[in-house]
Amino acid sequence: MEGSAPKTNKANWGNPPWTINFSSKKRPIPKEVDFAVVGGGFSGLSAAAWLRRFEPSKSVALFEASRVGAGSSGYTGGMTLAETAAGDMPGLGDVLAGLSEIVKQLGIDCDLLLPGVWELGRKDALPDSPLAWTDSGDLRAVKEVPGGTLDPGKMVSGLAHCAEASGAQIFENATVENIEFQMPLRLNVKGSVVLAQKGLLATNAMSLEMSDLASRAQPKFTMALATEPLTEVQRGALGLGSGKPFYTIDFPYLWGRLLPNQGVIFGSGLVHLNDWRELSDVDITSGQAAELLARLEARVRGLHPVLHSVKLTHRWGGPILIADQWRPVFALHPRSPHAVILGAYSGHGVALSTYLGRWAAEVMLGRRKPLG
Ligand SMILES: Cc1cc2nc3c(=O)[nH]c(=O)nc-3n(C[C@H](O)[C@H](O)[C@H](O)COP(=O)(O)OP(=O)(O)OC[C@H]3O[C@@H](n4cnc5c(N)ncnc54)[C@H](O)[C@@H]3O)c2cc1C
Repeated sequence: MEGSAPKTNKANWGNPPWTINFSSKKRPIPKEVDFAVVGGGFSGLSAAAWLRRFEPSKSVALFEASRVGAGSSGYTGGMTLAETAAGDMPGLGDVLAGLSEIVKQLGIDCDLLLPGVWELGRKDALPDSPLAWTDSGDLRAVKEVPGGTLDPGKMVSGLAHCAEASGAQIFENATVENIEFQMPLRLNVKGSVVLAQKGLLATNAMSLEMSDLASRAQPKFTMALATEPLTEVQRGALGLGSGKPFYTIDFPYLWGRLLPNQGVIFGSGLVHLNDWRELSDVDITSGQAAELLARLEARVRGLHPVLHSVKLTHRWGGPILIADQWRPVFALHPRSPHAVILGAYSGHGVALSTYLGRWAAEVMLGRRKPLG
C-alpha cells in the first residue's frame, strides 16, 4: 500500500483569480487501458492529450483525486518561464517555443503572452530600470529574460477539453489509492482495479510515496494575492506598463504579474510541511499561512506609494514541490520501467509541465527517453 490518499477539500486555500471550466463526463471506470495517467494538473492533462494525438488507437484514462486543476495548476500564478528552477538542463530544448507550439496545435485559448520577464534584485540595477521599489533595500530590474504569462484556469480547462475531445477518458474524484508495480500495472481506483500497460505519475506535491518522490522532494505551500485593477498611470508609475511579469533573484523572494483586468498579482512565502498530507489542513486564514500572507501584504503595500492603500481582491495559496537541487524529476519509476514520474518543478512548472507532459507521452510510447 502507498499510504493515505489525498483529501479533496481545498476550501481553505483561498480563491485565485482563475476559473476552471471543465467537468468530466460520468462513465464507468475501465478494467484495462493502454495508458493510465495519475493527476489532472498541467503535466497529466498535457500527457493525456498528446498520447491520444500521437496514438489515436490506444486507450488513455486520466485519474484525478479531486477536480482537474485542484493541485498547483489551479492555484498557480501563471508566469511562463524558459528554464527550470535549477536553470537550463542539457537536452531540455526550447521550453517557450515548445509551449507556444502546444498551445497553437491544440488550439488552446489561454491568453499566452511572451513579452519577457524582469529579473529583480537589490544590487546591480539596470541603469534604466523601469521599476523602482522598496523591499529590504532598493528593488530594481537587473535583467530581462524570455518568458511571460498565461491564464492557468483557461490552460487547465483547455488541456482537459482537448484531452477529452481526442478520446482520453478523464475521471475526476477518482483517487488512485495505490499502484502495484507489476506487468500490467494494477491501479486501485475507488475500489476498482484498472490494469494499464504504461502509467504516468503526475501527482506533484501529493501521493509522494506512490511516485517515489518522498525522499527526493519536499512539499511546501506558497502564497499569493491580487490587487484591484490599476489605472494606466498607476501601472506606469510601478514600472509595469510593458506587461512583463517579474521575480527576484535574491532574497526575500517576490514574484508577480499583471492580470488581464490590470490588477497585479504578488506572491511569496513558504509554509514548511513535514508530510504532504498536511497540505489539506493548510488554512490561509490561520497559523503560518495567514502570518506569511499578512507579511506579504505589508511588503506589497510598502513597495511603492501606488500600492499603499490599493484594494486586494484575492488571497490564496497552493502547493509546490521542491526537488533536490531544484531539478525537476522526469524519470522511469524505480519499481517499474512501465511507469514514468514527472513533476517537482520547484515553483517553475507552468510552461515546463505542459512541455514535459508532451515529452512524457512520447516516453510512454517508447519514442523518447526522459530528460536527464
Ligand atoms: C501560488 C503558486 C504560484 C505559482 N506560480 C508559478 C508561476 O508563476 N510560474 C511557474 O512556472 N510555476 C508556478 N507555480 C508552480 C506551478 O503551478 C506547478 O509547478 C505546476 O502547476 C505543476 O503542475 P503539475 O501538473 O505537475 O501538478 P499539479 O497541478 O499539482 O497536479 C497534480 C494533481 O495530481 C492529483 N493527485 C495527487 N495524488 C493523486 C492520486 N493518488 N490519485 C489521483 N490524483 C492525484 C492532485 O489532486 C493534483 O490535481 C506556482 C505554484 C503555486 C502554488
